Amino acid sequence: MGLKQSRLANSFIKKVINVKKNNIETRLADAREELAGLKKFPDPEFVGIIRELGFRCELCARCCTKDFNDHVFLLDADLAVLREINPDFISPAPYYEFCDQKGRFYVSGYALKTNPDGSCVFLKNKRCKIYENRPSICRVYPYMLHQEADDSGKVDWRQISGLNEHGCYNSELEDSECEAIARETRVYEEAYLTHMIGFFETVEAHFRKNHLKHVQSIYDRKMREFLKGECGLEVFVYCKGKFEKQKLRPKSEI
Ligand code: SF4
Repeated sequence: MGLKQSRLANSFIKKVINVKKNNIETRLADAREELAGLKKFPDPEFVGIIRELGFRCELCARCCTKDFNDHVFLLDADLAVLREINPDFISPAPYYEFCDQKGRFYVSGYALKTNPDGSCVFLKNKRCKIYENRPSICRVYPYMLHQEADDSGKVDWRQISGLNEHGCYNSELEDSECEAIARETRVYEEAYLTHMIGFFETVEAHFRKNHLKHVQSIYDRKMREFLKGECGLEVFVYCKGKFEKQKLRPKSEI
């Protein structure tokens, strides 16, 4: 298997979901299956791909912009650090997963906000202002090890984001460096999938207990009204095994 690239890092932007398959059970089963596959992915192959790429960052900072990577998703450990730094720079991650029949949304976590020009709120003069404390995904980027569909819809393992769109390639990397990158990327991807499995399990239990269900037509209508500024939103954000309720004001009131 050669190297596979993703245009967008899946850990930054969640998979584009086929709406027909957007039910909790399917998403939970997919995440569990992917985690099992990740654990079985051969380490020598992953290390070999990293060596073959020979990627070196050229400090272009494109990866810190919405245009390139949509959003920075925060794991619980990241959230704790970022809340200490500046809680105002965090918001519910976009692309909420579910909406119940009462019009309340459910999302798998928080993300960093961006500036009006689409750059990360922590980017200044092409440098990260919180480099030592940057979120997990920023530490492993552009490496990844997860399954994603390509433009033709074929799902396969992807190991690099934005191939040939940033950085330079074919550099000589030490074996120890490749092994460390592979190790850290695996740790991140396992943590991300474990987080997502926790989210799907929690939302499934919450829906069952409260006789709720995901209704796509209500999701679409509420989102349309919100985007037009006609209403606010109630969003339940998954965090540390529970939901935090957030109220988003109508855009017309911001
Ligand atoms: S936190 Fe730092 S490294 Fe991560 S996207 Fe923002 S500026 Fe870039």
